[in-house]
Amino acid sequence: MTAQIIDGKAIAQQVREQVAAEVAQRIAAGKPQPTLATVLVGERVDSATYVASKQKACAELGMGSVSHHLPADVGQEDLEKLIQKLNASREIHGILVQLPLPAHLNEERILSLISLEKDVDGFSPINIGRLAQKGREPLFVPCTPYGCIYLLEQAGVQIEGAHAVVLGRSNIVGMPAALLLIGKNATVTVCHSRTRDLPAVIRQADILIAAIGKANFVRGDWIKPGAAVIDVGINSVPDATKKSGHRLVGDVHFEEAKEVAGWITPVPGGVGPMTIAMLMKNTLRAAELQDG
Ligand code: NDP
Repeated sequence: MTAQIIDGKAIAQQVREQVAAEVAQRIAAGKPQPTLATVLVGERVDSATYVASKQKACAELGMGSVSHHLPADVGQEDLEKLIQKLNASREIHGILVQLPLPAHLNEERILSLISLEKDVDGFSPINIGRLAQKGREPLFVPCTPYGCIYLLEQAGVQIEGAHAVVLGRSNIVGMPAALLLIGKNATVTVCHSRTRDLPAVIRQADILIAAIGKANFVRGDWIKPGAAVIDVGINSVPDATKKSGHRLVGDVHFEEAKEVAGWITPVPGGVGPMTIAMLMKNTLRAAELQDG
């Protein structure tokens, strides 16, 4: 059996085109341009790259973006003041604080300060709390898990009643992905570093979401034949055939798994492009919530 490859790049492009069309319609109707504020603290190269691609996406989709770059030693109070200023601004619809923040800052407090209507990353405790409660809806769903579920739905994978295994329990990927799957009526097992006999647990999965950050960790013979495999991992491994000397791989051994799975996402070109597409979708939604 060879799996159907879920093309995240193409699906993300469809989402982006849909968002761009809706943004253009809003602007033509005289409504304010949906605008995202990005907040970057410090000089981490990876964080700066992520923020730059989010701003680029805003420009490509006709949305505005305002960037705030603060020094690594910024005080908690100054950062809180900035968040409050952005909360109060009528021109700003979404606020994205790029994580991780330097260790001296209280990340939990910063995230909880972002006004609910502008929490386009979906990380405020209230949004996550609503995601965890039956019959409640968060205003925004965290972008990467949202992208994972969107890919499953677009591929036509049946979620309701399926046994889903989520590998990883981080606040930004594993845990919200598990909560979303429960909300879609899957039966969910969450695995982490203390889980015993991972291969045996993963072999039961009709749907596997892998998010641990370990290159090629999940082997082909751990996959249930016909399962849907969503690989969130982004890992750099040495590759002498590449000019850069390295290439990106997921948490799942793609070559082995694609022979067993029913569906699989590649790395790169799977979940990665979905994260920014869903952020754009959330920013548009924020503008709709605030300006009608
Ligand atoms: P974290 O490091 O925050 O969490 C990793 C999770 O994996 C933890 O729950 C940890 O368990 C678990 N884990 C680690 N090692 C093992 C192991 N050997 N066996 C079982 N479980 C293990 O990572 P993130 O969730 O932030 O990211 C995961 C991956 O997804 C990374 O590769 C990251 O780059 C990628 N990513 C991709 C995004 C995208 O847009 N495509 C966005 C965000 C992340 P425990 O809790 O017990 O420590």
